[in-house]
Amino acid sequence: MNDTDDNTNAEEGEASDDWPIAEETAEGEPVDAGDDTDEEPVDAGVTPGDVDDGMTEVPEVGDGEGLNTDTTNVDSSVDLDTGGVDIDRMLEDDGDSQGLFDDLMAGEPIFRNKEVLRPSYTPHELPHRTDQINQMATILVSALRGDTPSNILIYGKTGTGKTASAKFVSQELESTSQKYDVPCEVEYINCEITDTQYRVLAQLANKFIEKNTEVVAEKLEDLRELRSAAAEDADALTGSEFADVAAIDDRIAELEEDREGMEEVPMTGWPTDRVYSKFFDAIDYHERVVVIMLDEIDKLVEKSGDDTLYNLSRMNSELENSRISIMGISNDLKFTDFLDPRVKSSLGEEEIVFPPYDANQLRDILQHRSDVAFKDDALTDDVIPLCAAFAAQEHGDARRALDLLRTAGELAERSQAETVEEQHVRQAQDKIELDRVVEVVRTLPTQSKIVLFATILLEKNGVHNINTGEVFNIYKRLCEEIDADVLTQRRVTDLISELDMLGIVNAVVVSKGRYGRTKEISLSVPIEETEHVLLSDSRLGDIENAQPFVQARFDN
Ligand code: ADP
Ligand code: MG
Repeated sequence: MNDTDDNTNAEEGEASDDWPIAEETAEGEPVDAGDDTDEEPVDAGVTPGDVDDGMTEVPEVGDGEGLNTDTTNVDSSVDLDTGGVDIDRMLEDDGDSQGLFDDLMAGEPIFRNKEVLRPSYTPHELPHRTDQINQMATILVSALRGDTPSNILIYGKTGTGKTASAKFVSQELESTSQKYDVPCEVEYINCEITDTQYRVLAQLANKFIEKNTEVVAEKLEDLRELRSAAAEDADALTGSEFADVAAIDDRIAELEEDREGMEEVPMTGWPTDRVYSKFFDAIDYHERVVVIMLDEIDKLVEKSGDDTLYNLSRMNSELENSRISIMGISNDLKFTDFLDPRVKSSLGEEEIVFPPYDANQLRDILQHRSDVAFKDDALTDDVIPLCAAFAAQEHGDARRALDLLRTAGELAERSQAETVEEQHVRQAQDKIELDRVVEVVRTLPTQSKIVLFATILLEKNGVHNINTGEVFNIYKRLCEEIDADVLTQRRVTDLISELDMLGIVNAVVVSKGRYGRTKEISLSVPIEETEHVLLSDSRLGDIENAQPFVQARFDN
């Protein structure tokens, strides 16, 4: 891999789900499979030893090199975000260095390459996933021998490296297949986006149609060359499969007819069996082993049942030239419970589990990435351990760990600090948590929003030990105010339990002695922000003055 790969990867990852496989590793150069040794990071640039005194790099700006005097017309009283740079001094200096922004950029002390911390970036090294990667490779190697690999089911919670590992393995598989010139292809589908049988089949069909069209075009070109050579000199056919020019013409006609049939499948509108047969024909057009990766497969099954998997899993008995193998990736450990038993046993021929990372493993992962992402000495010693500790509490989620580290860096950058410190990590944790809450609240169904709003009103009016009955009374009045259906108290109690599960309220059952038991409800999220999100909903926004509703509580 060369130094520029990091950037290309990141950008391509942003652009689409389908990552470029063949181009990346076309030379078949082995990519480090993520052993845990401390290797030189890919794009580390300056190693710590190179920086003479470990001092901040900010003084590069305006430290005597001087600036273009043309910039003196910039009004230095304007409140630019200068990253702590002394603009006046920069402007006084003369000389012929770069422009204003070049120097400000050079003064940026925190990030070297922030993209490396984004989820779209596919790392070249995956520490603590060597076992899982080797298991996948051991199963998939049959594809390189022309055999059909067993189907694989991969399980693990979000952020345990499933997608990253699967992409890594598929890149390796395709590059090796090119090296040895064996027909083996990998197709990746993210079922969170491609979430119906129609779309999965259409997307696969179109990919193979595209590839087949290329193959046909190449063949036609070769044949036409051969044909014109043979027209001049019949000896040109010696050693070829064709006896005469007419035979070539027949073959050309055949291929042209094939090409005619290779029309793209539209993304909607056809009957599903027509899409299926297009897909079937396209995949079977020539000999190959195809590994179909269905990421977030649980989302597909949840949304559209297991028909797709059923159809895919029985294809091999009917394919004549090609073979397929399915690799399903699921965040939900129980999703096979919903599958037809035949599908379940076929899909789960091999199972690989991705356990959550512990804090030490998360530390290693962050360390690897941060070497590339941050400038030297940009992090104080406690930053990575703290990010790792927070993310370990979030079921060992590496995505969360990376988000925290990136956000902490951004907060440090924004506050013009020269290093990322513990406080930035804590702020980042709060920010991410708040973002999560805002998103959850924003997407709640209207009824739940009204219930939550009722709780907020009570709490804002200083009511302690809020019980279900109180919430229900306010809820009822709010519904009347905005013309919403009023659910039963029992349903409202259920909605409160759901809000509890989402971590938005905390509902504890308390015993009231001989009066039975009731729930005491309190808010688990910041009140102002949550209210703000609720009122941004056009229906709830209609509630102008909520005070009377709370007053009414005492009337009941
Ligand atoms: P999943 O698919 O299991 O939800 P991902 O593979 O998307 O998880 O990983 C989440 C994030 O964490 C990605 O940015 C990924 O690059 C990173 N990541 C996960 N495991 C590792 C690892 N072992 N080494 C380096 N980065 C990792
Ligand atoms: Mg994933």
